[in-house]
Amino acid sequence: MSRYNIAVIPGDGVGIEVIEEGLATLEAVAKAHGGLSFEFTRFPWGCRYYLEKGKMMDEDGLKILRDFDAIYLGAVGFPGVPDHISLWGLLLPIRQEFEQYVNLRPIKLFPGVTGPLRSGNIDMICVRENTEGEYAGVGGRMFNGTPQELALQTAVFTRRGMERVMRFAFDYARKNGRQKVTSITKSNACNYSMVFWDEVFAAVSRDYPDIRADQLLVDAAAALFVTRPERFDVVVASNLFGDILTDLGAALQGGIGLAPSANLNPERKYPSMFEPVHGSAPDIAGKGVANPVGAIWSAQMMLEHLGEVEAAGVLMKAIADVLAGGEVRTPDMGGKSTTTQVGEAIRQKILIAS
Ligand code: ATP
Ligand code: MG
Repeated sequence: MSRYNIAVIPGDGVGIEVIEEGLATLEAVAKAHGGLSFEFTRFPWGCRYYLEKGKMMDEDGLKILRDFDAIYLGAVGFPGVPDHISLWGLLLPIRQEFEQYVNLRPIKLFPGVTGPLRSGNIDMICVRENTEGEYAGVGGRMFNGTPQELALQTAVFTRRGMERVMRFAFDYARKNGRQKVTSITKSNACNYSMVFWDEVFAAVSRDYPDIRADQLLVDAAAALFVTRPERFDVVVASNLFGDILTDLGAALQGGIGLAPSANLNPERKYPSMFEPVHGSAPDIAGKGVANPVGAIWSAQMMLEHLGEVEAAGVLMKAIADVLAGGEVRTPDMGGKSTTTQVGEAIRQKILIAS
C-alpha cells in the first residue's frame, strides 16, 4: 500500500479549475489501482492571498511544504499583481529551497492533435536548468534618474549547477531509451558563461558514450524547432533559453493548455513540484473552459516521479486516447467541451482500462 501526501496549491484563475480535474483524475487512478492512495492538503496561497494578506504564501510555507511527498501547483498570477511578485514570492523560492534544479517539459504532438506545423514527428523532452543561470537574481540598478542610469542582470553558472542538470539529461536519455542529448547555448556571444557551459557539457558527455551528444546555438535551435522538430530527442538548456524554447515547444504541441512540467529534485531529498506550463489565464478564468490536459499530464509526471510507473502509464494512455478520439476537447483546441467534460472523459478511459 503506497500512500502519498500531496501539497496542493491551486493558485489563481484557471489554476483552480484545472487542478480540481487533476485531483479528481488522481483519485480515479488510485481507485482503479488497488494499493495506491493520496492525501491532498490544499493551501490557499497565490495572488488572491497576496491581495488580502500582503504575502504570496505564509512565512513558514517552505517549512510546511518540506514534509510532503510532492507539490501540485495550478498557476499564480492576477491582473494588477506584478509578475515579479508572484514569481519571487512563491514559485522561485520553492524551486530554490527544494533544489528543484531540473525543469522537465515533454514536448509531444499526440495523434489527433493539430499543431501549427504542416508535418513533423514531435517527441522530445526538454531539460531546463531551474535554479541559476540568467534567473539567479543577481544584479542591481544604479544612477537612478540620471542619464547614466543602468541596470545589471548577472547570469550565474556554476560547475556544480551545470554538471548536475546535464547528468540528469544523459541519465534520463539512458533510462528512457532516448538516443541523443542536444545542448543549447549562445557561446559565440556569451563568451564567459556559455563557453564554460560548453566545456562542462563536453566533459559530462564523455561519461555517456552510448548517448549521442549534440550542440546548437539557441537561435539556430529555435528555427530547427519549427523546421525540423523531429531532429530533437533530449534537449538541455539554461534557465532562460529553456524557458523560451519550451514555450515555443508548447505551441508546437498544440497549445499552452496541453503542456505539462515538473520541477524536480532528482535526489528526492526534497519534494518536487508539478504544474501545467500555462498561467492563470485571466481572460478565460471562471468560464469553465480552460484546458485541463496540461494539469492532468503534470499529475501523470508526478506519478512517474513517485515511482508509480504502472499507474502513470495508465493515465498517459487515457490522456492519449481522449486526444486521439478528437470529440472531447476545450475551445483552445477547437472543441466545445468544458474543463470538467475533458477531465471526465479521461477518467472514463481509466475506468474502462481497469
Ligand atoms: P502568466 O503571467 O501567469 O504566465 P500569461 O497571461 O502570460 O500568464 P497564460 O495565463 O498562460 O499566460 O495565458 C496565455 C494565453 O493562453 C491566454 O490567452 C490564455 O487564455 C491561454 N491559456 C492559458 N492556459 C490555458 C488553458 N489551460 N486552456 C486554454 N487556454 C489557456
Ligand atoms: Mg506568461
